Amino acid sequence: MKILLAENRGFCPGVRKAIELAEQALKVHSKVYSLGEIIHNRYVVDKLRNMGLEIVSSVEEISQGGVVLIRSHGASPEIFERARLRNLTIIDATCVLVKRAQNIVRQLDSEGYQVVMVGNKNHPEVKGIIGYADNVIVIQNEDEIERLGRIQKIGLVSQTTLDRQRFAKISAKIIEKGFNEIRIVNTLCEQAVGRQRAASELAKKVDVMFVLGGKHSSNTTELASIARNCGTKTFHIEDFSQFTKDMIEGAEIIGITAGASTPENIVQEFIEGLQKYGA
Ligand code: SF4
Repeated sequence: MKILLAENRGFCPGVRKAIELAEQALKVHSKVYSLGEIIHNRYVVDKLRNMGLEIVSSVEEISQGGVVLIRSHGASPEIFERARLRNLTIIDATCVLVKRAQNIVRQLDSEGYQVVMVGNKNHPEVKGIIGYADNVIVIQNEDEIERLGRIQKIGLVSQTTLDRQRFAKISAKIIEKGFNEIRIVNTLCEQAVGRQRAASELAKKVDVMFVLGGKHSSNTTELASIARNCGTKTFHIEDFSQFTKDMIEGAEIIGITAGASTPENIVQEFIEGLQKYGA
């Protein structure tokens, strides 16, 4: 049994930066509050929690004058304002690529475009980005295009971690619907796209694919769905503790990739675990 690893996998620069900023802040402040999980990975979250990082779901849970960390997903201007009103010290770990998407949405809105965003409306990144324009329509799939109705000027963007093929497909369908003007801005993250490409290439070469990462991680879920779409038996699990022997029954080649919020030691532990089963 052989193991192949995706060349492009694991921590991305945005996540790495957010963790670094949290660690630096915890050297100076005994308590730092993260607005939502800093990343979608239990292992990293637990480690930072032990150092003094507390997760809250709103700035109002933080006492006046506290320290709040805005994670790489970013936050809406309204949340920044509420943090300022509470006199909080803000550590802004918004990824530069998410910031770029926020600025593009604001710009399109100011130029009179109806901003349409393709993505998961419940994802924190999307919730933050749509706060940079008055009224953003979020669509999750092709079926929702009908909701667009009659619009003169559409400014189309996507969640940074969306599968590129999916964004291309939905964009094409919107164009087919026939609007006066459509401006498409590529807000996809090249890091995420690179991981998607590597996952797809690997999935075509293996019998079973393991995608390691948090269940709530959007980019990890996207990687798993890309691998599945290649027709490969795919498991999206967090780490080796969720592995069972039957997952690799009859497999000769096993592929492994990891989401942008999965540390490399999770991958290494997974490999060591598989080696005990003869890989
Ligand atoms: S996946 Fe891309 S957009 Fe998201 S945090 Fe990482 S580098 Fe930034």
